[in-house]
Amino acid sequence: MEYFAYPVANLIEEFSKLPGIGKKTAQRLAFHVLNMSPNDAQGLASAIVEAKKNIRYCSVCSNLTDKDPCSICESKRRDETYICVVEDPRDVIAIEKTKEFNGLYHVLHGTISPMEGIGPEDIKIKELLQRAYEGNVKEVILATNPTIEGEATSMYISKLLKPMGIKTTRLAYGIPVGGDLEYADEVTLSKALEGRREI
Ligand SMILES: [Zn+2]
Repeated sequence: MEYFAYPVANLIEEFSKLPGIGKKTAQRLAFHVLNMSPNDAQGLASAIVEAKKNIRYCSVCSNLTDKDPCSICESKRRDETYICVVEDPRDVIAIEKTKEFNGLYHVLHGTISPMEGIGPEDIKIKELLQRAYEGNVKEVILATNPTIEGEATSMYISKLLKPMGIKTTRLAYGIPVGGDLEYADEVTLSKALEGRREI
């Protein structure tokens, strides 16, 4: 890295902190940025700063939003008696694309994972229980990924919600086990929603 002038080395270093970006790709991206027009480079830098400044968690569902509550939580057309629980904001987008679900969401921002030292208090479970306790919730659809962590997290939440008289369901398979909701196609995801089963 000492072969590069400091600003270049620094840019490479910053890119290499991004997920899935190795040293080679970081170098390629850095050189791409250096070849950009000053306007484009400024645009990229501003987009990062603006997104970071204006995007926060919705105080109701914990999805990423630029206004609070988010447009889904605020919509009068959504059925607030259904809450679909997902791991990641990208899963909300995947389910919205199916146009099959008209309830509200709750984004956990992760799963319980003892191996990685992530416990129930490290993700947005407390906030979900609070909504279930205060609101008029009939069914919670547990749409975490079909991985070991996703299953365990769903079971954990289900055990807490059932005594409150709330029906808990899990997406039907069709989504490959170990797979990622975000990458499921719309038809598969629609079917998985339709065929959800009680747990
Ligand atoms: Zn929201």
